[in-house]
Amino acid sequence: MIRLAIQAKGRLNEESVEMLAEAGISVEQSKRKLLSRSEDFPLEILYLRDDDIPQAVSMGVADIGIVGLNEVLENELEVEVIHKLGFGKCRLSLAIPKGDEYTGLEYFNSKRIATSYPVILKRYFEQKGIVPEIHKIAGSVEIAPTVGMADAIFDIVSTGGTLISNGLREVERVISSEAVLISGKALEEDKLLIVRQLISRFEAVERSKGKKYMLMNIPENRLKEATSILPGVKSPTVLPLAQSGWCSLHAVVSENDLWSKIEQLKLIGAEDILVLSLEKMIP
Ligand code: ATP
Ligand code: MG
Repeated sequence: MIRLAIQAKGRLNEESVEMLAEAGISVEQSKRKLLSRSEDFPLEILYLRDDDIPQAVSMGVADIGIVGLNEVLENELEVEVIHKLGFGKCRLSLAIPKGDEYTGLEYFNSKRIATSYPVILKRYFEQKGIVPEIHKIAGSVEIAPTVGMADAIFDIVSTGGTLISNGLREVERVISSEAVLISGKALEEDKLLIVRQLISRFEAVERSKGKKYMLMNIPENRLKEATSILPGVKSPTVLPLAQSGWCSLHAVVSENDLWSKIEQLKLIGAEDILVLSLEKMIP
């Protein structure tokens, strides 16, 4: 049995639960519960505030956790990023009042910068040889310049909409973040085995994202051209048909070029094309 910490509520909660569900792991979601058990996988979920997840994992209260990379970098604890999950994407950026002229990083020398991520920011400016005044504030960082608490901010940006509506302009992207799976440094062998299983399920889900399964009938003498259109995972599967001179061709294609592939295949005589959704891909 392993214990996984996820965000109790907030931006990462839903997608964390969804990711587990896609990996065949259902958990009972109850708002009041701190802990819940999966019935179909040896896993227990601990619901926490995202800020507390790196610490819970480093202390061994949870074996692994799902949290934004930004929180991992800010907390500087003994945890290891063991898998990137591809959701919760955002960046941490420096932004200044939109009317200000920006000439480069020297702009920030002696400026007051409000942020919830002082550790990351301090490390960044130390590397760059710039000395600003960093002020830690817990929430609503984006309003700090308007109310006169700061000259600039360092905050999470995803679309940039919040910055614009607060009269700010993004001038430096400092780090990119996404949800990651973290683990404590020393997991026992039996737990490690479960963690590896979990990661390989996540990988199977990720691999099938944006992919479709295609099958069609094709004249045998056009097979070579068809296989060059459809490289598939390794190579497409070819099966004989009862009708002589024809065969059935199966392949995995990326959703992006699905229609262009269909058009090319029709031109070389493909018929009865079926496109099916693809659930999991396990190598
Ligand atoms: P908690 O109550 O758990 O402390 P929170 O308010 O600190 O929650 P959320 O706003 O729910 O945190 O964001 C959680 C994580 O989602 C962030 O740390 C970040 O990694 C990621 N994220 C992705 N896009 C955004 C965004 N546009 N704004 C804020 N966080 C984002
Ligand atoms: Mg938080």
